[in-house]
This record gives sequence, structure tokens and C-alpha cells, in this order.
Amino acid sequence: MAQKRDYYEILGVSRSVQVEELKKAYRKLAVQYHPDKNPGDKHAEERFKELSEAYEVLSDPQKRQMYDQFGHAAGAGNAGGPGFGGFEQGFGGASVNDIFGDIFGDIFGAAGGARGRSRRSGGRPGSDLRTQIDITFEEAAFGAEKVITVPKNVRCETCEGSGAKAGTQPETCNQCGGRGEVSFQQGFFAISRPCPRCDGAGQTIPHPCPTCRGTGHTKKRSQIAVKIPAGVDTGQRLKLTGEGEAGERGGMSGDLYVVINILPHDFFTREDAEVICEVPITFAQAALGAEVEVPTIEGKVKLKIPPGTQSHKAFRLKGKGLARLGSYGRGDQLVKVIVEVPTRLSTEQKELIRQLSETGSEAAHPMHHSFFEKVKNLFD
Ligand SMILES: [Zn+2]
Ligand SMILES: [Zn+2]
Repeated sequence: MAQKRDYYEILGVSRSVQVEELKKAYRKLAVQYHPDKNPGDKHAEERFKELSEAYEVLSDPQKRQMYDQFGHAAGAGNAGGPGFGGFEQGFGGASVNDIFGDIFGDIFGAAGGARGRSRRSGGRPGSDLRTQIDITFEEAAFGAEKVITVPKNVRCETCEGSGAKAGTQPETCNQCGGRGEVSFQQGFFAISRPCPRCDGAGQTIPHPCPTCRGTGHTKKRSQIAVKIPAGVDTGQRLKLTGEGEAGERGGMSGDLYVVINILPHDFFTREDAEVICEVPITFAQAALGAEVEVPTIEGKVKLKIPPGTQSHKAFRLKGKGLARLGSYGRGDQLVKVIVEVPTRLSTEQKELIRQLSETGSEAAHPMHHSFFEKVKNLFD
């Protein structure tokens, strides 16, 4: 397979590009390479496909984040991967018409038609929802099943989403003849708009359902099971397809985005797949060496501290970190030892330290001595 080009490069934008600018860049290039404008031009067709794929990924915050983190590998070969179920799989195979329809909407509506069809077959689609979930460090480390409560519009049970009172039927809209859209010619383009009378549904409801007043949905606090994959990090989003607001009159449901927030832990912080743990040790342990018990996400382990260990030295525990999301293996744990300087000393203890510093001080503190030697000579 030929080397895939970088998505940002394809769209000619920077890696920090904002949504509006991204859309603009895509739109400009897509118009240039659109197959309708370049009939029979293979190169243009390839470019157009490439653009659409790049835009599809970069315009979706979750896919973009995955792409930024893992590159093209994020879209390949993850299907069925362990613990990856909650995420949308892969980038490939998206219908160009869907993306194109989304961004160009009515301008190319007459040619595309995909949106038009969905309008005719049902009511307005439901909105996407976004909610935050607080999880513990351990839940992020090992994955978890959680149930969240989300207030949202659900399909009305009385009318089963149709919006029509029992025993009555929706009627075909007489303004659009059931098409759900009205179109008119302007210059080169046939412009289509959702029908203003039926709001794109193609039908009107002469006798609305009393429960939902004709909308086809009611408000409810819904319990939703969320599978947290092992290795997630704060700020990442899980997409639950179809768990957003119910559409109007049987229209498609939106999606639910669950944003991960990891609660602070007593011992651990993290950097990607690495777990970081700071362990205070005594001055004597640092100087003479010691064996200390340190926590890991799987329990306690013994760590040998060699004599003469400096403060803030980090020891690496291989494979004791977090699962690498979307990849294989685990990160490491870093144990950073912090030498605690003795405080609140008795007179006797102070005297002992004084004696210590007076005997063989230079050999015991080579860094200290060489530094102040250099400082002394600085302006000579
Ligand atoms: Zn109803
Ligand atoms: Zn209509």
C-alpha cells in the first residue's frame, strides 16, 4: 500500500487548526476537486477521496484526537481489539456523500440527495448530547462498567414516536407533497430547503398525541450503561451512537458523548501510559540505602534504594503502568523518591548533624563542593 499522506497536509492546515478554518479549507479544496467539476479526471477523483477522508477524521474531535495520538494506525486494525468497544472503529469506508452532504448542505443537495431522502423518511434527527463521567484512577487503569443517568428526550411510548393520537394517522404534507423539501432554481443551482410547513418531515399531524403533543418524544431520566476501556485519560470522549436525544416523529436519535474525568488519587498521577508515584524517604535511607515498599496499581512491591540516592531520582518499574489505549502493552511506573530533610530537631540531633558535616564533608558532598568551587572562581 502506498504511504498515506498526513491529513493536515492534505487539507493544507496547521495541526492547531480550529473547526471553522478546517471547514473552510476543506470546502475550498473539495469544490476544486469535486468529480462533477472534473469528469473523467482520475487524479482529481483521488484527491477528492483523500480530502473527504482527511476531513471526516479531523472534523470529529474524537477521531482527531486518536489520529493526533496514533497517526494512521488509529484507523486500522483496531476492530475487535480488547477493551476498545466504546470507541468508534476505524476511519475508512465513510460515505463521501454523507460528509459532503453535511458540509455543503443544500448547495449540492440536488445532486447528492442523501439528506433529502432522510428528510422524507422521518422527522428531524435528535441532537447529540454531552455529559461528563467521574471515574477513579483504578477504573481508568483497568476499565469499568458504569451506569450514568442522562435526562434526555426519548421516544414517546404512547404513539411510538409517530406524534399522532391513537387511531389517527399523520397526513401527507400538502405544501411539499410529502417530499419534505421544496426546491427552486437559482442560477446554476437547484436550491432545496426543508419544507417550512412540515419542517422536513413530509407529513403533518392533524391530531397530535396528547402525551408528547405531536413531537414523538418525551423527557426522561435515562439510565445508560457505559463501558470504560482500560487506559482512558481525562478529556477523552466515548461516543455512544444513538444514545443522544430522540428525533422528532421517529427521526434518527443523536449520539451521546461521554467525557472522561479521572478523580485525583492519593498516590498516583499519570503521563499518558506512565504512572508516577512520589515516595518520601528519609535522609538516612537515601544516604545508606534501603528497601522500601511502594504502591503500584496492582498492589505493593519492594523497591531497593541504593546508598547515595539523590532526591527526585526516578526508579522505573517496567510494565507497571497503564494500558496503552488503542495499542498493545502497558506503560511503566516511575517511582520518584523525595528525600525529606529532617525538621524539628532536638539539640542533641542538631549536634550529631553538625559533627557529620564537619567530618569528611568534601568527599561526602562532591556536587556541592565542585559547584561552590566554580562560583568562587567565577569573577577571578
Ligand atoms: Zn406521543
Ligand atoms: Zn411539507
